[in-house]
Amino acid sequence: MTESPSAQPFPLGDSAFYEEEHEEFREVAREFVVRKVEPHYASWDAEHMMPRSLWTDAGEAGLLGLAVPEEYGGMGLTDYRFRAVLDEELVRRGALGAALAFHLNDDWVLPHLLAHGTEEQKERWLPRILTGELVTSVAWTEPGAGSDLRGVRTRAVRDREDWVLTGQKTFIGNGISGDAALVLARTDGRTDRAGEDSFSLFLVHKADSPGYEVGRQLDKMGVKASDTAELFFEDVRVPGSNLVGTQGGGLRQIQQLLPQGRLAIAVAAAAVARAALEETVRYTRDRTAFGSRVLDFQHSRFEVADLVVEVEATEAYVRRAVHAFNAGALDVVGASKAKYWASERAKAVTDRCLQLHGGYGYILEYPVAQAYLASRLLTIFGGTSEILRETIGRAVAEG
Ligand SMILES: Cc1cc2nc3c(=O)[nH]c(=O)nc-3n(C[C@H](O)[C@H](O)[C@H](O)COP(=O)(O)OP(=O)(O)OC[C@H]3O[C@@H](n4cnc5c(N)ncnc54)[C@H](O)[C@@H]3O)c2cc1C
Repeated sequence: MTESPSAQPFPLGDSAFYEEEHEEFREVAREFVVRKVEPHYASWDAEHMMPRSLWTDAGEAGLLGLAVPEEYGGMGLTDYRFRAVLDEELVRRGALGAALAFHLNDDWVLPHLLAHGTEEQKERWLPRILTGELVTSVAWTEPGAGSDLRGVRTRAVRDREDWVLTGQKTFIGNGISGDAALVLARTDGRTDRAGEDSFSLFLVHKADSPGYEVGRQLDKMGVKASDTAELFFEDVRVPGSNLVGTQGGGLRQIQQLLPQGRLAIAVAAAAVARAALEETVRYTRDRTAFGSRVLDFQHSRFEVADLVVEVEATEAYVRRAVHAFNAGALDVVGASKAKYWASERAKAVTDRCLQLHGGYGYILEYPVAQAYLASRLLTIFGGTSEILRETIGRAVAEG
């Protein structure tokens, strides 16, 4: 018996994963993306910058700081499926840069404030994160230290109630557009090889911090709309009340909260792979060569069959990680597996999708070319694939 072709043979909606409330949230997210993001995204990409109104509009739509508890004005939505829905809606309309900018705020900084912030810090920062008035960055990487954060040389020295911060960071997303950076700095006063207790985290505000300078904007291959910059700190006075967590606890806090950051990238990667494939199916249905549709060549059909299975398997694997996260059971190894698998799949899937587009796949105005360039980042930031394999392999070896 032959199967009848359906309009969408690999639908996104998975009733076993998403429930009605997620689909209602999807409507809100979609409306926001269609009205406020999609029409402008190409010009933001050309300008290498997104406007601050993106953040305040997202805040107004209730799309920022989903996990912020009600007592601070939020919705307390700790179910990660809501974050996944927002990523899917942004990515399928080509706005991965916006998704990644939101990640920095919601998946990399907010978890630290929620888990380790004092009551005073939460009252000060959380309501402004919700409205998009406070846009944050993660400032860990330095020119000499990325994978190995123990090589961080930025230092903070205690001076009565304050800390004095000196150093340099690079690759900082939202570095230009953001208001405050969660800075990893050495606080043990030593210069020899750092230990686990050598670092602390500070939320450093740009506006009221003389000596906080934004350096060059880095010209990236893809996701250009999201700004990435160098930051410099020269004797920046940081109030003691901006220490997030404990003195000397910075690396442990990062390790504890890495799962959410890596899960976010895994979710986005699965969405990138799906979006590229959907676009490729559309394209190869329309494009003809030698008198037939490109999708009707047996080779194309086999390619697409492989890709559909790859995308669905990736989604299933990532969704398992989302369930584990929701149950409080996603550890660094589990998140590393999800991020490693999904980002490598996104890279491979977009490459094969580009090939199926022929020459048009190489032209930047085609979504698949953008997806290909964007996906190249996913195996690098937030832990390179090599570091993730090291984490996974070590866990297996240590049993
Ligand atoms: C566009 C972009 C945005 C970013 N955004 C941010 C941000 O917002 N905030 C932030 O703090 N950082 C950010 N980063 C930094 C990013 O997380 C680092 O680039 C990444 O962790 C790798 O560090 P590195 O570049 O120093 O590479 P290195 O650590 O120098 O690695 C170079 C190579 O060596 C490999 N390698 C390193 N150690 C090992 C090992 N032990 N075993 C095997 N192989 C190894 C790596 O996998 C890689 O292939 C961003 C990077 C990019 C490109």
